[in-house]
Amino acid sequence: MKTYNFSAGPAVLANDVLKVASDCVLDYTQSGMSVLEMSHRSQPIVSLFDEATARTKDLLNIPEGYSILWVQGGASLQFSMVPMNLLPDDSSADYIVTGSWSLKAVRECNKIGKANIIASSEDAYFSYIPKEFSQNIDSKYLHITSNNTIYGTQYKEFPKVKSANGYLVADMSSDILSKPINISEFGLIYAGSQKNMGPAGVTLVIIRDEILDEGTRDLATMLDYKTHIKKASMFNTPPVFSVFVVNETLKWIEKIGGLDSMAEINRVKADKLYQEIERSNIFNSPIAKEDRSLMNVPFIFSDRSLKDSDFLDFCIKRNLYSLKGHRSVGGFRASIYNAMPEEGVDALVNAMQDFEKKS
Ligand code: PMP
Repeated sequence: MKTYNFSAGPAVLANDVLKVASDCVLDYTQSGMSVLEMSHRSQPIVSLFDEATARTKDLLNIPEGYSILWVQGGASLQFSMVPMNLLPDDSSADYIVTGSWSLKAVRECNKIGKANIIASSEDAYFSYIPKEFSQNIDSKYLHITSNNTIYGTQYKEFPKVKSANGYLVADMSSDILSKPINISEFGLIYAGSQKNMGPAGVTLVIIRDEILDEGTRDLATMLDYKTHIKKASMFNTPPVFSVFVVNETLKWIEKIGGLDSMAEINRVKADKLYQEIERSNIFNSPIAKEDRSLMNVPFIFSDRSLKDSDFLDFCIKRNLYSLKGHRSVGGFRASIYNAMPEEGVDALVNAMQDFEKKS
């Protein structure tokens, strides 16, 4: 029986990508050396970074005037680097809170400047995306989390920024590369790699160059976006293997037909799962219909007498793994990122139906 990994991250990677990665661990580009052993200053690795950057630009249709960075520290470091680089003294930014990750972003911003929470869905256990809010006219930027990995909500339309010269900043860790987006709506996008792109270890930052012009404060070198722009993400030793796997994943998305095709595949998978949740007499979704994520699908027992662990054990016997909901919410969560094949969703739907029959 095939194994399917529904983990929220680190998450499933495409089989073709893993095969190439395992070959290259032994011999990279017939050099007789492992990709793990090669200097980041060597020509093959410099070319690898150029390729990964060019593919990202191409797939996401990134216009002129944006830089692409491959940095370390995860999305969590971006919670701090964003305000450090973009928020001058005595200024503030607007934040919309749609889950624990956006709350963490707020907390880090408040250590550096001032984060105004202009909307939050905490009042309803983060089960929806707030749509009505007023923005501060002098806010430097508006920060959102485009997809909420834990709670399973996702923006279907991004808010328009109202402040003069303001721009949107988005944490896209759990839905980057899952669909086309209009990059010009954003001043900055960041995303950790370990969901839709590759293994953990590298964070993609897409930044509109002109927003760095104000030059805010004297930052530690490694925390300054300008350092990484100037040195093409090679100021210090970068996580070469992570970028290598990201590049292979980008090639895999290209082969599928790019982000339009990826979005359609993701829509079909999510529709199947949500339809089963709607049909089922034992499961339901706690999330507002219009805001349901196509990447992370939480569901719970409608009959509270049923035990979560029984369904999780039932799934494990069918090689369906990591379906436990986040420890802060319980229930179940199926993460069905780009690399989850439709057959994996079919296997889960079958398990849900068979469990219902025997309950
Ligand atoms: N933002 C979101 C939306 C996430 O899902 C995560 C990790 N699951 C993070 C930020 C934190 O990422 P990292 O562990 O790479 O710092």
